[in-house]
Amino acid sequence: MSNTPISEIPGIRDTLRASFRKGLTRPLEWRKHQLLQLARMLQENVDVFAEALHKDLGKPKFEAYAYEIGVMIERSVDSAKRVDEWAKPVVVDAQDWQRPMQPTIHKAPVGTVLIIAPWNYPLALTLQPLLGAIAAGCCAVVKPSEIASHFAAALAEKLPKYLDSNAYRVVLGAVPETTKLLELQFFYTGNGRIARIISVAAAQHLTPLTLELGGKSPVLVDPSFDVTIAAKRILGAKMQNGGQLCVSPDYVIVPRTHQDALVSALKNAYAEFYPQGSLVSDSISRIVSPDHHSRLMDLLNRSKSEVVVGGRSEGNKKIELTVFKDVQPEDSLMEGELFGPFLPIVPVDSIDEAINFIRDRDHPLALYAFTDDPKIKQRLIDETLSGAIVFNDVVQQLAFNNLPFGGVGPSGYGRQSSKYTFDTFSYERSGIDVPKEAEPFLAARYPPYNEEKLKIMGATVHIPIPASS
Ligand code: NAD
Repeated sequence: MSNTPISEIPGIRDTLRASFRKGLTRPLEWRKHQLLQLARMLQENVDVFAEALHKDLGKPKFEAYAYEIGVMIERSVDSAKRVDEWAKPVVVDAQDWQRPMQPTIHKAPVGTVLIIAPWNYPLALTLQPLLGAIAAGCCAVVKPSEIASHFAAALAEKLPKYLDSNAYRVVLGAVPETTKLLELQFFYTGNGRIARIISVAAAQHLTPLTLELGGKSPVLVDPSFDVTIAAKRILGAKMQNGGQLCVSPDYVIVPRTHQDALVSALKNAYAEFYPQGSLVSDSISRIVSPDHHSRLMDLLNRSKSEVVVGGRSEGNKKIELTVFKDVQPEDSLMEGELFGPFLPIVPVDSIDEAINFIRDRDHPLALYAFTDDPKIKQRLIDETLSGAIVFNDVVQQLAFNNLPFGGVGPSGYGRQSSKYTFDTFSYERSGIDVPKEAEPFLAARYPPYNEEKLKIMGATVHIPIPASS
């Protein structure tokens, strides 16, 4: 399918803005219908989408159903069920004399929004923000990644058959097409380099933005936790989408004395998951593009660390799951987010060193720790910061509809998933409604000011301040 002609983009934007002004997307029943239509689009075309994901990423049907299409059907239906509650105005507490003025937060849709999606989980990361935008009562332009081109084409074909085109449109293309739309409030999922470019555009238009970015998510493995289970959980999740997942475990930190036990448990898990080796397994997605493959091969070739599992490559889209030990902080594998099937193990001499290693780097999207020691858990909560902190598993946090998902600092800002995406696309508008009967309480604010009025209006100057030590 060809790109959306750039000359058509202003027309698309104007159509959506006009629909928003007319109030098309406001009624809650209409929003619920669109959300359920989104679920129907996915359910009635499940194999069209699964096939497209397979063509783009070699994604196994299991992962397409379990981690993308199924999740989005469930979240669309769930959002339709809960949107009445989310959209209700909230009356907030106030001082006794203010209560009759009904201080209220109204949930206002922010307008027409732009969703810029990445290639790695193309369906989930395009539709999750979209369903939040629908629930919030916004119009939306969706820009799927040009790199996952089969999914993008399938979405562009199916979406208009289910959703109202006066409110929701798919734009196909890359940088020029996206740039044309950057004056809309947007929701970007992708990498920090492009996020910096589009943040500049947002500043020019004073446009609010949400950035869902990536980075290196570390895993701490403490000897107090069963090493066989830790190895299975790490390796199982590491290979989701061929390691091309924003919250993939990027590297492992382990006490030096425990490294060999971990390596041996990882080798056992590898043999169990991929008896014929990971290169020939059909339970693994491939590397998305030859460019990404070359970047990973460059890291592999420059690495000075010892390979303990894997290390081979085939063609320009396949690399074996590869585990490295004794990785030094300056090794090529530690340069940036790996986003592929490599798992470096960094040995440390103490928990203090492990915590400092994490603190010395950017706040990650996720911090994982396998430990049964409550003191270590508490230290990690108190002494580090990350989008999510997960004990004794990896990636599992994505399955919770009611936990916010997002990064902090270089891993992004803004949050998503279910109500959190609704909130992202809603403006919390403050409101009060002052009855005329309140006039006697307000009389003291009018000029001319005098001592008696000062006593009333300035009384807070004299409120008692509680003792503290
Ligand atoms: P990508 O190359 O597909 O780019 C993402 C989007 O940006 C695409 O739609 C692309 O067309 C658009 N784009 C590219 N250049 C642009 C420009 N100059 N102006 C405007 N738009 C532009 O995907 P990617 O960035 O390589 O994705 C991988 C990254 O995304 C990783 O860092 C990963 O961690 C991160 N990620 C984060 C999350 C999250 O939810 N936090 C989820 C998935 C991926």
